[in-house]
Amino acid sequence: MKRAFLLIVVALLVLLAVLLFNTLKVKEPNETVIPLPVFESGLNESEMTARLSRALRFATLPDQPQAFDGLHDFLRESFPLTHARLTLKTFGHSLLYHWDSGKDCAPTLLLAHQDVVPVSSPDAWEHPPFAGVVDSQFVWGRGAMDDKGSLMAILEATEALLADDRAPACDVWLAFGHDEETGGSEGASRMADWMTEQDLRFGLVLDEGGMMLPGSTLGIEQPVALIGIAEKGYMTVTLQAHAEPGHSSRPPAKTAVGDLARAIATLQDNPRPAGLSEPTRKMLQQVAPYQPFAKRMVFANLWLFEPLIVKQLSGKPETNALVRTTMSPTLLRAGVKDNVLPATAEATINFRLAPGESRESLLAYLEQQLPDSITVTPQDTFLSEPSATSDIPSPAFERLAGLARSLPEQPVVAPFLLIAGTDARHYQAVSDQIFRFMPVALNQDDLPRFHGHNERLSRAQYPRMVSFYAGVMLGAE
Ligand SMILES: [Zn+2]
Repeated sequence: MKRAFLLIVVALLVLLAVLLFNTLKVKEPNETVIPLPVFESGLNESEMTARLSRALRFATLPDQPQAFDGLHDFLRESFPLTHARLTLKTFGHSLLYHWDSGKDCAPTLLLAHQDVVPVSSPDAWEHPPFAGVVDSQFVWGRGAMDDKGSLMAILEATEALLADDRAPACDVWLAFGHDEETGGSEGASRMADWMTEQDLRFGLVLDEGGMMLPGSTLGIEQPVALIGIAEKGYMTVTLQAHAEPGHSSRPPAKTAVGDLARAIATLQDNPRPAGLSEPTRKMLQQVAPYQPFAKRMVFANLWLFEPLIVKQLSGKPETNALVRTTMSPTLLRAGVKDNVLPATAEATINFRLAPGESRESLLAYLEQQLPDSITVTPQDTFLSEPSATSDIPSPAFERLAGLARSLPEQPVVAPFLLIAGTDARHYQAVSDQIFRFMPVALNQDDLPRFHGHNERLSRAQYPRMVSFYAGVMLGAE
């Protein structure tokens, strides 16, 4: 008895020693700063803001081809040096610019998209969504954050570098898709295919997706710059239940609607397993040095505490999406009349695939969970598997991180898993260093503005977006 007790005490002491050792071993944070470039000719904030405002007035929606033509004319007249010095190749309404550096090193690719999502209720906006209203603090309009702010800032950066007669260390390519919000199959996908044919291979690809958020997002004091190193996949399936049609005065025990409802409830009650993917694991490790001691111990010992962290993250929708494949029932169809039992009932379910998940594994799960009477049809047109995870640390990531650290917020930089989709996924064949980050500081309550009401971009932050993109383009000078 005494011996057993002694063994337990020794085991606990060993465990404590390991936990402490790992905690104290947490690396000193990397805080290398790469200064943002300064422009001799300066950046004129009000002129740049006016140009962004005009870009927002083109309602670049999928069914508005003339809006894209208008935007293109406007870009040509607004950025004369860029259009004189860079070559431009078009793919439908998508634009691909090439800045030849004359040097033989891995090129950089900057991505942004021209298209925007529709506005569901314009009356809910403080300013009309396609008027490009500028007040003392913000530029308002659909696309200000997603993604014309980045598109215009990238072109402003190009123009300003050319005005200063500065050239990038290696070639720079700018790819501005026109159909990101509807899957990118005509824009990004075709541009990436062409690049593959040309044997282009990029040392760094930067797209939208991450941003700076308050440190409280990750339980630390300093703001965090979240740079996406992977994104989740996207898959929609249709579930169909069948039954004998008939009069509602003589219902059978089983109905199509009842079976369908049961199927949806089964999937909700039996979610996909949760776990820490590599990007989330790296995110926690990266912020560990900034955590108070107890939390640092937890983050430094994921081998022991992973289940605890996963349980905590699963508790909230926004963090639950980080740890598992999620399912959202979005559309329902059944019936034509109140007194007729429908022969079929149909539900559309949208899944977001966590790293490690695949179309096949998800279909196997559905087959296992649902009875044979439910027909499962994957809608493969919009399918995307989870992206590869960009390997970090790497020179490309350190470059972005170093530039981000020199933003006025002096953020802690952390990699993360983007739970939404971007055009970046189409470029996986031409680079394994793909990152998703927009150099703006937002608050949690700004996030619903993406695809929501009152989208806006801070005027104070706009010039430094331009400087940041210029820094990315210049590369290691
Ligand atoms: Zn976007």
